[in-house]
Amino acid sequence: MLTLSGRVQQIKPSPTLAITAKAKALQAEGIDVVNFGAGEPDFDTPDNIKEAAIKAIREGFTKYTAAPGIPELKQAICAKLKRENDLDYAENQIIVSCGGKHSFYNLAQALLDPGDEVVIPAPYWVSYPPMVSLAGGVPVIIEAGQEQGFKITPAQLESAITPKTRAVVINSPSNPTGAAYTLDELKALAEIAVSKDILIISDEIYEHIIYDGFEQFSPAQIGPEVKERCVILNGVSKSYSMTGWRIGFTAGPAELIAAMTKIQSQSTSNPTSISQKAAIEAYNGPQDYVRNVLKHFDERRRYIVKALNEIPGIACANPQGAFYAFPGVSGLIGKKCGGKEIDSSLTLCEMLLDEVKIAVVPGEAFGAPGYMRLSYATSLENIKKGVGRLAEFVEKLS
Ligand SMILES: *Cc1c(COP(=O)(O)O)cnc(C)c1O
Repeated sequence: MLTLSGRVQQIKPSPTLAITAKAKALQAEGIDVVNFGAGEPDFDTPDNIKEAAIKAIREGFTKYTAAPGIPELKQAICAKLKRENDLDYAENQIIVSCGGKHSFYNLAQALLDPGDEVVIPAPYWVSYPPMVSLAGGVPVIIEAGQEQGFKITPAQLESAITPKTRAVVINSPSNPTGAAYTLDELKALAEIAVSKDILIISDEIYEHIIYDGFEQFSPAQIGPEVKERCVILNGVSKSYSMTGWRIGFTAGPAELIAAMTKIQSQSTSNPTSISQKAAIEAYNGPQDYVRNVLKHFDERRRYIVKALNEIPGIACANPQGAFYAFPGVSGLIGKKCGGKEIDSSLTLCEMLLDEVKIAVVPGEAFGAPGYMRLSYATSLENIKKGVGRLAEFVEKLS
């Protein structure tokens, strides 16, 4: 009999990818599903970026590159960090990996020994806890519900830290909640990280997708003491609609970057050569694309939040960033749909797909039962149709 490792048996497949796959399978059968499951922008990759990749292919830039990425891309990333985040990084403090997810994976592998703890605020991005577990680490979850703006307090962070704690993960703006930490809030958390000498893993993948004039900061901007304990994760996936190109990066202490490079050199080797050329164009080329798509996201955000809040039993906070609405649905729990009780947000989301053909990810996937995530990275027309179906479903509940 085949026996699989304990390591792989302790994790589950990504639930967001699973719900999207189920929605796509129904769509392939010709069923009209409104898909709120997507964790990626619905816009096409900008043409100038595509052209850079085509040029790379034509010029034969199709071989292995340096494992941590080509110098030209690292320079473009350093320039981006300077220009947009006012941060100075050297090339040996940057590693390019196969997407932001892979960046976190390599980081966990390079950082954690068995039993080492990583503090993860819930609601969290689905992949943080399993990647920590796969590295032998222990995810320590702290809860930040809607009543506290989906943000952890300094007191919560402090009480979660033990002698085994190596790092805390801050994802601002957040997937799935859209919540974002202000500079003052980051300072208060960073003070604890510095005093307890733990790393701050700052996932800044949604840094450009922010609303209502929100001022985005990286914890690394607070000062040198914080910067030396900060590991920035970012990439081109969300900012430039490049999820399929698989380019992410880590910026942090040179020693840690060298360790991650060693792991990458013995596992995936370099990220795709062609995609690296495309990413250079993303960072060095015109940036108007980012502002243009933001207008669309903002229009959709305003619509969906208002429409969700008009449905009895649903309460949706206003997201400051990213492209997700994360309403509380506890007002619907205990109600019945055709005799069947809605006993959890998970059941609710299953019913929504079965009964009214809308794909929504249950809060359980993000360590937050009682909520659900709707991605508004889909057309306003789809959003109107889908939220309309949700409202009809709720109306029929008893
Ligand atoms: C999408 C996402 C990433 C990175 O995704 P990649 O496609 O692997 O670059 C990282 N963190 C969060 C929170 C995300 O939502």
